[in-house]
Amino acid sequence: MIDRAKALDAADPLAEYRGRFTLPEGIVYLDGNSLGALPKATPAAMARVVEQEWGDGLIRSWNDADWFAMGARVGAKIAPLVGAQSHEVIACDTVSVNLFKLISAALAKRPGRNVTLSEPGNFPTDIYMIEGLERQGLAVQRLVPRDEMFEALGDDVALLMLTHAHYKTGELFDMAAMTKAAHDAGALVLWDLSHSTGALPVDLNGVNADFATGCGYKYLNGGPGAPAFAYVAERHHDDLAQPLTGWFGHARPFAFSDEYEAAPGIEQLQCGTSPILGLAALEVGADLIAEIGVDRLHAKSRALSEFFLECVSGHGLELDLVSPSDSRTRGSQLSFRHENAYALCQALIARGVIGDFRDPDILRLGFAPAYLRFEDIAEAARHLAEVLQTGEWQRDEFKKMAAVT
Ligand SMILES: *Cc1c(COP(=O)(O)O)cnc(C)c1O
Repeated sequence: MIDRAKALDAADPLAEYRGRFTLPEGIVYLDGNSLGALPKATPAAMARVVEQEWGDGLIRSWNDADWFAMGARVGAKIAPLVGAQSHEVIACDTVSVNLFKLISAALAKRPGRNVTLSEPGNFPTDIYMIEGLERQGLAVQRLVPRDEMFEALGDDVALLMLTHAHYKTGELFDMAAMTKAAHDAGALVLWDLSHSTGALPVDLNGVNADFATGCGYKYLNGGPGAPAFAYVAERHHDDLAQPLTGWFGHARPFAFSDEYEAAPGIEQLQCGTSPILGLAALEVGADLIAEIGVDRLHAKSRALSEFFLECVSGHGLELDLVSPSDSRTRGSQLSFRHENAYALCQALIARGVIGDFRDPDILRLGFAPAYLRFEDIAEAARHLAEVLQTGEWQRDEFKKMAAVT
């Protein structure tokens, strides 16, 4: 299997990009879907912003280094990765905060309807944000399983809010079909692209999506707590009621006027002062992912996960795969159900294979295509086989649940 992995690496058109990332020696990193790896160019880019723009430029850098436009500039770099026009995306806030702004804005556009429809088991923050709006009396939450989603699109639904690639299973929604169904029912659509952006092709304009948000620290490699991004289709820019009317979303922040007047374009999604250091790191990651190209990343992601399954059966393992078995219909990950998934995950980490555990019984392995080698995949499968076949995961030290995992 190692020979076959080496041959696949030799033929991999993306092989050179691994060298553009800092990865610790002896580690197989299968958690780039949770925190992307560090691009080698990031420390120098950040040092330049810190030392020159902040250190020397001080307050002047808002103009001289164009800090004001940085959220829009980084957004414009993310836009082609999600099939949007450059003026439809802005880098700002977190996914959670962007969800709050976008759900509210969508509800305001559908007077007489107040239901936000989503699925149970969606990423917790997505559900919590609807719940928070419900507590304010602004929204009604309706969660239905995905096979009942079409019927649930009644005439009280203002917004269909879904996550494209499920964080736990990697299952994908058909964005075109769901968006069309929602529109046919008179509702708007908000897509969470956290587990898609930078790994899977997404065509927001092509599917006619209304709103979207996505994560900067996963496949975009923007660093821990990197700013997220928000997308609003151009047709909604004119009368958008974004509730977090902070001064950075004002048409003229430095007029210091008492009246709020929303900026005309995507800048109206901003709330407070842009996090310049976070944006500087995110920009490097977004540039690198754009340079590699989403279609090539997706092709490699599929090949990596298919090869992992091939290795696993080569070792005679029979695992309970909860991700879709067809790589065209899953995100860049494989999730396996195992009653001792936590201990299994810890035993793998002890061997230098970093994946993650998702409560209660899921071992989740992410395949960040920009920097993983087929050799890493073969190694990870070999370790998994050894850990299972020797019963190594049953050691006491792997069973204790840490507070933060
Ligand atoms: C990672 C992730 C988030 C993260 O939200 P933050 O507010 O940026 O921490 C949200 N939704 C989904 C589906 C995610 O996978």
